[in-house]
Amino acid sequence: MSLKHTYPIRCPKCSAELEEELYDSINVVDAPALRDQLMANELNAVECVHCGFKFRVDKRLLYNDPDRQVMVFWFPGNEAEYRTNKEEFLESMDALNTALPDEFDPPAVHLVFTRTELIERIYLLEADLNERVIEYVKYMMYSRNLEKLDPKKKAILFNAEDSTEEALCFVVQDLDSMQLEGMLQFDRSAYEGLLEMFDNDEKTAHLMELFPGPHVSARELFLQDQE
Ligand SMILES: [Zn+2]
Repeated sequence: MSLKHTYPIRCPKCSAELEEELYDSINVVDAPALRDQLMANELNAVECVHCGFKFRVDKRLLYNDPDRQVMVFWFPGNEAEYRTNKEEFLESMDALNTALPDEFDPPAVHLVFTRTELIERIYLLEADLNERVIEYVKYMMYSRNLEKLDPKKKAILFNAEDSTEEALCFVVQDLDSMQLEGMLQFDRSAYEGLLEMFDNDEKTAHLMELFPGPHVSARELFLQDQE
């Protein structure tokens, strides 16, 4: 089930007060069109009735794909709060979790803070890739090249579109300009090797320790270490 509610918002251009129906959660099995809207940057998009200005409202959103047993919580702009106030943050996520019907198997819960992260994670899961192993790959990419790939300034994003049977593709995004700067590749066979390596208790424990979740992010790991 997808849920939407009416919210009072203000037009960023003419400051008119608007009442808009916005999605709080989307179920992409019931309503695949909502997934497409999200990908097309049209979900929770608003057109001001006074001045005609079109804009997107970034708000908390629960992305639910029951076929894959996956839920992604998007909390826009809450990254700093998460870092400084993790426990309270996770409690509010628990509250969301317990609001689900009993018969619903608790799936892997993913937490993301930006729209880019949300879209990347959806593509990753749809490509049947393991998010922790992918973030581990990014972790290695950062570690080997910290001068060029400063985690404070550069994001590494999985690129589903250009990935092939042979290689997984990643793009580097400069976080100041938001421009995409370069492409990195990682052999799919090496990814499969990592997947196999981490599939034993001791190694899995190590991976879980690196990325306990729910915000699984190599970049976040470096930023936390720097604080
Ligand atoms: Zn307006």
